[in-house]
Amino acid sequence: MIANKRIYLCLAHMSGREQDFIKEAFDTNWVAPLGPNVNGFEEDLRAYVTGTAGQANMAGHDGEERLEREVVALCSGTAALHLALLACGVGPGDEVIAQSFTFCASVNPIKYIGAVPVLVDSEKETWNIDPDLMEEAIKDRIAKTGKVPKAIVPVTLYGMPYKVDRIMEIADRYGIPVVEDAAEGLGSRFDGRCMGTFGRFGVLSFNGNKMITTSGGGALICPSKEEKDKIMWYATQARESYPYYQHEAVGYNYRMSNVCAGIGRGQMFVLDEHVAHHRHVMELYKELLRDVEGVTLHEGMAGSNYWLNTVTIDPGIRVKGQENVYQSVVQGAIGGAAGVIHVTANPRTGCEPNDNVEALRVYLSEEGIEARPLWKPMHRQPVFKDAPAYLNGVSDAMFKVGLCLPSGPLVTDEDVHRIVRTIREAII
Ligand SMILES: *Cc1c(COP(=O)(O)O)cnc(C)c1O
Repeated sequence: MIANKRIYLCLAHMSGREQDFIKEAFDTNWVAPLGPNVNGFEEDLRAYVTGTAGQANMAGHDGEERLEREVVALCSGTAALHLALLACGVGPGDEVIAQSFTFCASVNPIKYIGAVPVLVDSEKETWNIDPDLMEEAIKDRIAKTGKVPKAIVPVTLYGMPYKVDRIMEIADRYGIPVVEDAAEGLGSRFDGRCMGTFGRFGVLSFNGNKMITTSGGGALICPSKEEKDKIMWYATQARESYPYYQHEAVGYNYRMSNVCAGIGRGQMFVLDEHVAHHRHVMELYKELLRDVEGVTLHEGMAGSNYWLNTVTIDPGIRVKGQENVYQSVVQGAIGGAAGVIHVTANPRTGCEPNDNVEALRVYLSEEGIEARPLWKPMHRQPVFKDAPAYLNGVSDAMFKVGLCLPSGPLVTDEDVHRIVRTIREAII
């Protein structure tokens, strides 16, 4: 019997052009955190997100104003968010409204600054920050602290656009700048316009498993040349113009390498193809899961890039092996391919996916298929236990029943058929 290949959530996929740009970097000795690839990649991204590179878009037609944005390439999405918050004037002790249902990198930079994350729960349709609850939180923070929160960080979770119009209307009314965490949302659109272009700033990520990769990297979409320059200044150790090193502010070493930017330039050739592929995989899951009782594809909103397709598992269905889950500590961690992970003594945390969801994850894993729980909400993370939180139960409920399925550019139709077949097999 031929062993089945392993199927992963979202692996990198190259266009083949990356090495030409990298070779050029070496040939011209631009092996540095600046250079032609960095500039070229920034220009490619600017053209893409403002819709001037020939993508279907709403900007610039029917007499509408052309979207003016600048892009800075940085070493990670996390770094981009950190600098955006600084540029919004967030300082120690300030409060920042953050979406609780997300990856930790949406919230950690708030702590880097010594500011306070105010965690807000999600609405059911897009799984992103709930506008009504957000306004309630803003009002309550003003009542309790006498101060207006300094920024709002909505997320494009799994590629699904958040309720942009409602969030922007509320943010504008209170005069609070929005920093969009569009790390998972490159190529996602709301009303035809790219995510990350609605707020004052927009964060993009090119980590290994995102829509495109630079091996690791990020970018910040900025509203103007002045803001771009300010971000670049912070990203390159905040230097003053003297013949020697003179510093009047604390800077960071956050610029993107010219070698990584070469990968990014090559990846721009497959971005549209990736977005189309993720959508195609979504359609296929939808079709094949239609008659699988108790397993529901979360389709989210039109305009999603479907970075990761997610399903919810009805608590009533029984999955093979479910009586044995959570009995031993997992080796490594889910999603922990890189880095060091603390070994824990206790396999349970008191807030975890339902037994049937964990059993399905284990079953799929044993069949060579990677699946992962949804992000565990930040208000459930011990590290953020002291953060004020405004909750409605949605993210807790979704975390218990949700699972991410393979969706990346290397996932074939045959793979999707195999995944759904395996899900059927797992259900008793
Ligand atoms: C990946 C990700 C980030 C961070 O991006 P990096 O480039 O890995 O630092 C931030 N927010 C969300 C929601 C992400 O998924």
